[in-house]
Amino acid sequence: MLGQMMHRDLSIIDILKFASENHSLSEVVSLRTEGDMHRYNYTDCLSRVCKLANALVGLGIKKGDRVATLAWNGYRHLELYYGISGIGAVCHTINPRLSPEQMLYIIEHAGDRLLFVDTTFVPIIEKLIPKLPKNLVIIVMASSDDSSTLSDNFLNYEQLILESSHDIIWPELPENTAAGLCYTSGTTGNPKGALYSHRSTVLHALTTSLNLGPSLGDGMKVLPVVPLFHVNAWGLPYAAPLTGTSLIFPGPNLDGASLFDLMDQENVNSAWGVPTVWLGLLEEIRKQERVPSQFQNVVIGGSAAPKSMIEEFESLGITVCHAWGMTEMSPVGTQGFLPGSMKKALSQDEQISKKCYQGRRVFGVDLKIVDENDNSLPHDGIASGELYVRGNAIISGYYKNNEATEEAFDKEGWFGTGDIASITTDGFLNIQDRAKDLIKSGGEWISSIDIENIVMGHPKVANCAVIAVPHPKWEERPLLVIVSNGDTCVTKKEIDELLLTHIAKWQLPDAIEFLDALPLTATGKVSKLTLRKKFSNYKLN
Ligand code: ADP
Repeated sequence: MLGQMMHRDLSIIDILKFASENHSLSEVVSLRTEGDMHRYNYTDCLSRVCKLANALVGLGIKKGDRVATLAWNGYRHLELYYGISGIGAVCHTINPRLSPEQMLYIIEHAGDRLLFVDTTFVPIIEKLIPKLPKNLVIIVMASSDDSSTLSDNFLNYEQLILESSHDIIWPELPENTAAGLCYTSGTTGNPKGALYSHRSTVLHALTTSLNLGPSLGDGMKVLPVVPLFHVNAWGLPYAAPLTGTSLIFPGPNLDGASLFDLMDQENVNSAWGVPTVWLGLLEEIRKQERVPSQFQNVVIGGSAAPKSMIEEFESLGITVCHAWGMTEMSPVGTQGFLPGSMKKALSQDEQISKKCYQGRRVFGVDLKIVDENDNSLPHDGIASGELYVRGNAIISGYYKNNEATEEAFDKEGWFGTGDIASITTDGFLNIQDRAKDLIKSGGEWISSIDIENIVMGHPKVANCAVIAVPHPKWEERPLLVIVSNGDTCVTKKEIDELLLTHIAKWQLPDAIEFLDALPLTATGKVSKLTLRKKFSNYKLN
């Protein structure tokens, strides 16, 4: 027997309509590429989104067309998220840190019709113009009097808005209509596309709003350092308006001092981003000997949050939520805010230990770990295997890529994350490594994340990474790459002493190399691929 309930298709524009009616005092504040601060509320935002949608239709955009963006975190980018998907087109966010070849590849692969570009990225696009598809229309996201948009090649964003009508009847779209497209950063091979739907996006917004509750809500102000140009800024463009949270966008200024100032001025309560960003902010906090005024919690994900970072934030009174996810999961899979009952039962040290895990699954995401024969392993905190996931906001295939799709799923339709993990009896995920980053030493596996986590706690270390280098006898051995904190380099003996309090002797790195900075990926994480290439001929003694 079927239930007798109405079926209403889930639709992204409904989130902004809701925010406009119910959270009209919550703001979107943006540090613009023009250099000044722009602020308006969700009602103003919707009003401009209506005009943008009409402008898109005026430019010939139809349902299913892909419209690309190459932009920082700011209100115009947010408007594009809603305007494009609202008319049934697909908002394809491009990561400006990709190589020009990768950008060209995905623009062509996606079949983009329009490309919206922040002024900062105009020079990149100008260089690419001879190779870009001839029918691609480029719109610069700038004020109508900005000189960079005077070129015949480009249209101007504000001019389009100015000339468009506010009146619109949003189309009724089946909820499985595609709404967003994001390519993985393509660390190996070409980038692969995740094609989000209205349904997956709205469900993801609902579950993150529920599960990451302490950082969202009416009166709260959230700073997405995590970019709108990659994985939907972890869903914040949707979860924030849905919950009435104000969005504070940092534009292009992501260094510690700029973030500190912005957070201080705008009374940011919660900030979300990858660990490398927080290294900069913590340095600024130490320098100023205070935290930004209303800073309450930080959501850390994208790569493992080192224990020393978690301890430092918590000692400053800032709650850490260690989260995990991936492009293919919209992206949030797990989150690490501890429930009140658990906090009461655990000492501070025990709470920190819990937070070193990647949190527990959000509603709508199922997790399983399997051995090499695809047998499910117990969630006992000991057994570790490849992590598979399923859920309503997880891809069912890669966009126009059958080969990658065939490789990614098991017989039961679960998606293989490529991460190696264990899961504790109380559901905490412990990511040991990406399968390709694990170090295979004489038939045993060494987790690079475990070593990095401990080494990051040494006062002479500012940042570090562990990679596998070839070894004649053991196949691979760990090499530790360190960025020093200050002028004195830590010695191998000091590192070994620290590590031996946590890991076995055979897991110790064989050697240490020092660099001025670690190479980063397009998503701001440490690029192990680049490090592996750099040290591919490394000779261990
Ligand atoms: P890319 O950076 O390659 O585009 P994603 O942004 O989708 O890809 O990154 C997903 C991957 O990042 C995960 O599969 C996992 O390996 C890693 N990751 C994400 N969050 C964490 C975390 N909290 N701890 C450890 N690894 C993480």
